[in-house]
Amino acid sequence: MNVRVHAIQTGTITVKRAYRTPSGSNRLMRLNSVLLDRNWLTIPVFTWVIQHPEGTIVVDTGESAQARNPEWFPAPQRPFWMSQYRFNVTPDQEIGAQLRDMGIEPESIKRVILTHGHFDHTDGLYHFPNAEFLISRKEHDDVQRYRSAHFAFPSHFPSTFKPRIIDYVPEPIGTFDMSHSVTKDGTIRLVPTPGHTMGHQSVIVQDGNRTIFLGGDSSFDQDSLLNDIIDAPAFNAHVLRETRRRILDFARDEHLVYLTTHDWDTPERLAGRVPLQAVFTVNQAVAVPG
Ligand SMILES: [Zn+2]
Repeated sequence: MNVRVHAIQTGTITVKRAYRTPSGSNRLMRLNSVLLDRNWLTIPVFTWVIQHPEGTIVVDTGESAQARNPEWFPAPQRPFWMSQYRFNVTPDQEIGAQLRDMGIEPESIKRVILTHGHFDHTDGLYHFPNAEFLISRKEHDDVQRYRSAHFAFPSHFPSTFKPRIIDYVPEPIGTFDMSHSVTKDGTIRLVPTPGHTMGHQSVIVQDGNRTIFLGGDSSFDQDSLLNDIIDAPAFNAHVLRETRRRILDFARDEHLVYLTTHDWDTPERLAGRVPLQAVFTVNQAVAVPG
């Protein structure tokens, strides 16, 4: 089969270290530990492009250089954004320019999958004026309802934004009971992976006997998945742990390559098709959450 997955890094964001490893037993405490932290951590922002016989599909749109301009943020929230985040993205690092370098015109893209509505996954939306954006019903509803309180700036959703609301159907894949097939041949599927946001979804690409799992922010990185580290912004830790258990159980039975948005090792694992199983075998002592 002729499916190719590419990872595209849209710059980095520097965040408080506690963003990845917060302290505190609930979300408020976790977020508070971020505000108090004085240590910084630079993280990549990956997106993916899937070249499939039924068309090229983009997964998430990454960060935009516009976020370097304080005026990108509404005035009342500016001090928060300016003090908590540093956006290291140039226009050439945005997804549009990088697709052009690969010989793909962003205007030709018809389908973009959004794992969730957070800014670092949606700030590049404007590169795709002719695309439908596949977003889960729950995520779409929550973005409408909570707006910038929780989702950062859907106000930056361009007027061309055409959501295609996804309802999952009972077509199981691995440990997931429900899914939505993006392609007619069923090789690219969306599955609900709630927890980070309650409408978060992941993308499963079946490429021969290997499965590539584009996990968005299901965990910050693979290490966080294996060691049960809940990131500060995660909306519901309990639900997120259920999701992660499903992913880990899936990876026991299949050659599953697990890739997330903010994992520096995403390109290496993708290139080497390194499965989660390999880590289970090497490190028997790994703590499985549950
Ligand atoms: Zn993110």
